[in-house]
Amino acid sequence: MIVDLDRLSESPEKICSEEVVSIRDVLDAERKIECLVDVTARKSGETFYFQTKLHGTLSTQCHKCLQPTDFGIDTAFEVVVQRGGTAKAGTDRAVEEDFVYLPIGEQEFSLDQHIYENLVVNIPMQIICREDCKGLCPICGANMNKDPCTCERSGDSRWDALKSLKDKLPKSQR
Ligand SMILES: [Zn+2]
Ligand SMILES: [Zn+2]
Repeated sequence: MIVDLDRLSESPEKICSEEVVSIRDVLDAERKIECLVDVTARKSGETFYFQTKLHGTLSTQCHKCLQPTDFGIDTAFEVVVQRGGTAKAGTDRAVEEDFVYLPIGEQEFSLDQHIYENLVVNIPMQIICREDCKGLCPICGANMNKDPCTCERSGDSRWDALKSLKDKLPKSQR
């Protein structure tokens, strides 16, 4: 989203747009986020304020059962742009705020990088389609949510290591 700085005024103005943002997820697949960008912009002299709300939908797949899954992202951030002048040491500005310096006379400012970063930090490492997703059968690959198979799974394999440890102990300590 490119904003024409010279069109902004002292009174807050709403700028909305729909963007499609491409990301690489943890599975290294390219994913699209359809995102509603809702900006309230205003200026004060040569300082410009952008309060931004993002409502995004990431189209991905469940990490357990691999079915297509949408993940909603709602987040907000603020960017302050200073045109002309240089960073002053010891400003009392909150560090969490994104603060950008632009050269004198620069007319346009792009929010794209800020939008991208604020979406990416809100995507969890593992996305599942639902809380109790049963995933895929490790033997035949059937989707256990839809059509449970009849494969013989010998209990829970996570305990195998413990079981073999137990077998090594002298009988009296079992
Ligand atoms: Zn799932
Ligand atoms: Zn199976």
